[in-house]
This record gives sequence, C-alpha cells and structure tokens, in this order.
Amino acid sequence: MPQPRVQIRSRRRAPLHLLPLGGCGEIGMNLTLYEHRDRWIAVDCGMMIRQDLPGSPLQVPDLTPLETLGIAPEALVITHGHEDHIGAAAWLWPQWGCPIHATPLAAGLLRSKFAERGLRTDAIHVIEPGEAIEIGHFALRYLPLTHSIPESCALLIQAGERRILHTGDWKLDPAPLLGAPIDADIYRAIAPVDLVVGDSTCAPEPGHSRSESEVANALEEAIAALSGRVVVSCFASNLDRVLAIGRAAERCGRRVSLMGRSMERMVRIAQGLGYLEDFPALVPVHDLGYLPPDEVLVIATGSQGEPRAALSRLAAGRHPHFELMEGDSVIFSARAIPGNERLIERLKHALRLTGVRLLDDTHQPALHASGHPYQDELRTFYDWIAPCNLLPVHGEARHQQAHQALASEMSIEAPLTPRNGDLIRLDDQGLHLQRHYRLTPRIIDQDKIAPVAGSGGESTARHDQLFLAISVAASGWGWTRIGRLMLDDSHASPLDETELADRIDECLDDIQADSLAELREALYPDMMAWLADHLHRVPEVHLQIFAVETQAAVGK
Ligand SMILES: [Zn+2]
Ligand SMILES: [Zn+2]
Repeated sequence: MPQPRVQIRSRRRAPLHLLPLGGCGEIGMNLTLYEHRDRWIAVDCGMMIRQDLPGSPLQVPDLTPLETLGIAPEALVITHGHEDHIGAAAWLWPQWGCPIHATPLAAGLLRSKFAERGLRTDAIHVIEPGEAIEIGHFALRYLPLTHSIPESCALLIQAGERRILHTGDWKLDPAPLLGAPIDADIYRAIAPVDLVVGDSTCAPEPGHSRSESEVANALEEAIAALSGRVVVSCFASNLDRVLAIGRAAERCGRRVSLMGRSMERMVRIAQGLGYLEDFPALVPVHDLGYLPPDEVLVIATGSQGEPRAALSRLAAGRHPHFELMEGDSVIFSARAIPGNERLIERLKHALRLTGVRLLDDTHQPALHASGHPYQDELRTFYDWIAPCNLLPVHGEARHQQAHQALASEMSIEAPLTPRNGDLIRLDDQGLHLQRHYRLTPRIIDQDKIAPVAGSGGESTARHDQLFLAISVAASGWGWTRIGRLMLDDSHASPLDETELADRIDECLDDIQADSLAELREALYPDMMAWLADHLHRVPEVHLQIFAVETQAAVGK
C-alpha cells in the first residue's frame, strides 16, 4: 500500500537584522539597530570627538539610513553611562521621541544632559541590572558585567527563537571597586547563544587586563610615597578610579578636592545614587590654601591635554585658587587616547616647567588599567556563553580583525568585520552582509547637527564622493601611516590605491603638525592636487584621520 506523502516543511525562522551606525571601524559613537519582523530597537547612542577637525567637535551617528528606510526605533536601550554609549542621545533622540531604558547611573547622567539641552526627561526609564523588558518583538534582559563604571550590562536579546548577547563594554575584573565581580553562572546558564555582538577594543592584547583593585593599590603606594601637594588626573567617567583615588587620599591623610565640570557632575550623580559612600568629604578648591601641602589631593580632568580642561589651566598657571610649584606631584591615571599624544606631551612639558614631579603609566604601568577584555578574558567568556556566531564591534578594523581571528581559533563563525552602515542579516545560514548604506559624518556645530564641511553631506549626495580614512601614529619626528587606506568611493574613474598611498606617505614625511587637525589641514590640499592630476573629475572628498596606538601604548 502506498504510503501517504508526508510533506516535511522545515520551519524557517524569521531573520534578524543588525545595522550598526557607529562603533565599527572606530572606538566611539556606538549605535546599533536591531530589527525583527519589522520592529526596530536601538542599542546605545554615543558620540566621539573628532580630533582631526579644528576645535575638536563632537561627532554623532548619521541617521540617514533610518530616514531612507522610513523607520524609527521603538526604544533606545542603553548598556552603560560612558560618553561613547550615551553622548549623542540628547542630539538624536528628539528625532525618535521613543522610551529610553537605562540603569540608574546612566539614566542619571542622561537626565542631566537632557536637562542641559532643555529636553524633557520623562522618556528616560530606569531598569536595574538583572531585570527584563519586552519591546516590540524583542525580549531583553540586562545582565551585569564588570567595566570601569558601575551598572554596565550586557543585553540578552531574544527575537523569536534566536538569542543574541550584545556585550556592551566589559572586562573580567575579579576585584572591582564598585559592584560585584561577574557571576559566571548567569552567563553559563544562557549558553549557547546564536550570536555575540562583542567588544573588540583590546582583542589584539594577549593575557588578562589589570584589575581596578590592583590600580587602587598602586595609586595608594605612589601617593603614600609623595610629599607636597598631589594632583591626580583621570577620566571622570572612570568611577572606580575616582573612588580609588579618593580612598587612597584619605588613607594617606590628604583632603580631596575636585577640579573640572564633568568630574563634579559624575561625583554628584554617583553620590546621589548611593555610590561613593566611602568617598571622603570634599574640600572646595578655594579652601585648599589653608591646608598644609602634604594634606592636599586634587582629582582633575584633563589627562588628554585638552587645552580648556583643569590640568592644562593648572599647568599654565591660569587657575585662580591653585598654583602648582616645585615639590608638588601630578599623576596621570588614564591612557593616552591615540591622537592626543602631542597635546599630552605639550601638557607634560608645561607641567615640568613648573617644577612638579610627574608620574604616569609609562614608567609605572600599574597606575592604569583598561576597562576592556584581553584575549584570555574573551576566551573565558566565550567558553561560558558558547556563541555560534560573532560580530566584532567596538573597535578599529585591526581590533575587529584580531577579535575575528580569536573567534575562528575557538570555532565560532565570524565571517564579517562590520563597518558602520552595513545592514547585516542573521538567519539559519548565519551572518551575511545584505547591503551597505553610505554615511556622511555629522558633527555638532554651534549647537546643531551638521555635516562635516567638504564631506558632501550638504548636497544630496548625487555627486561623486570619495571617503578616505587614514590611520596614523605619532612618532618622535612626525606622523607615520599605519595599515591600509580605507577607501569608499562612488567614483567611476579607477584610482590607483598604491600610488595614492605612496603620495600620502611622501607628504607625511614633510609635514610638521602638532595635532591631527593640523595634520589634516596640511595633507588635504596635497591630496586634492594629486586627485586632480589623476582623475578626470575631482570628487567631493571626505578625509578622516584616525590615530592608532603605537607599541609603546599597548596594554592600556
Ligand atoms: Zn565603556
Ligand atoms: Zn565604549
């Protein structure tokens, strides 16, 4: 008897789409959109500083692809309170008006930024680490991680039957100063995940990052050995570090004062939330003169040599209540962000002229630690969550590639190193690049979002455009190009990349520039002249110069 024909239909699961508009190919400006069955959410909304443009303006993600697709996210979900994850929200969110979900500290920082711009803050909702929420076709759970600011969370995103872990920023700190160490069981319990969208910042670094407790001990030892007044500079957003410095000051019999608006804001908001309970009572800067020098410690912003920040004002003798002098010490407890090396050198030179003693992590590496995972941490974490696929984000191309290589070593599928503007599909066959949307850089200019001059964003992009990004490293005598040119052009005429790269290298040999902005200004006309010689029609050119860390700076 013939058997009835049974039709076996494979259950096809609806795909998921990802669209990063920031954070890929760069460190900063994180924004990733997720789509499932036509419903969208946005994760993080950060900014970055364009050190290669005059005045170092803020850059925010370009939302044009969303306008082209006619979509707005139903919610903005924030992983943690760092500027590269929240700094653009007060600029971009008004276009969406959607609910924002953030942990208490990130929510407090966002509220303060929104209030500064006169925006209503009732869309900002607090979610505690460990809690879950449903938005559109997504179910999300906030999973606590360690980083350099409390309440950092990974997001477990469930879309249909697929589960994605969007890590945000993290490290495996066995002894963080604020909050608990990572609970491995939480992560083992979610294994295996279909996809991890992961932090690539320190993927080229072998070994394990330093714990914040180790830095706290090193700082205390360093401060205990010093006489005279002590100024310690770090990022305001590194709250673990701010606490470590405060505690060390108290143990060494010093009173603490804060310098810098962002430092004051961070400490005020964190204290309001019950963090920093054992932070010493603060002394106003104008009262420091009444204290003996050995009882003074100042925590100041400006570790990157920013000319308007507290430390530069001190170095230039422009602070009304505090003058540095011989016998005082300045400790740098922050990494040098690539591209700032020369500004930092200039600051250190000015500080030396005042006769102060300088301490930094070049000679005492334990004075700083990275907030991002090194290779051993990535391996341990991926052993816990057993991801099938990896999408390496939060990094420059070389960080993403190192992350990709580590994944393939662990038999995790990682076919892509995404760029901003890539529409990526995750389906039963894995990850694919579906299409690429060209983005135009947007900066904040006179309180408004504007395209970078000369980037072609002013017109409707009908013209030929050429986007060129160059990575450089500062060296003793100037700037050296690192890696390949990153070219993206709609230009019909062929362009000889090797010849262009050679020309750029020749120019770099001749250019004397103290900052990326000066370098860009000097390089641009030469490059335009070369293009005019080699192409029939000169396109609109957007040039972006990234600085990369040199060997000496590795391990930050
Ligand atoms: Zn972070
Ligand atoms: Zn980040």
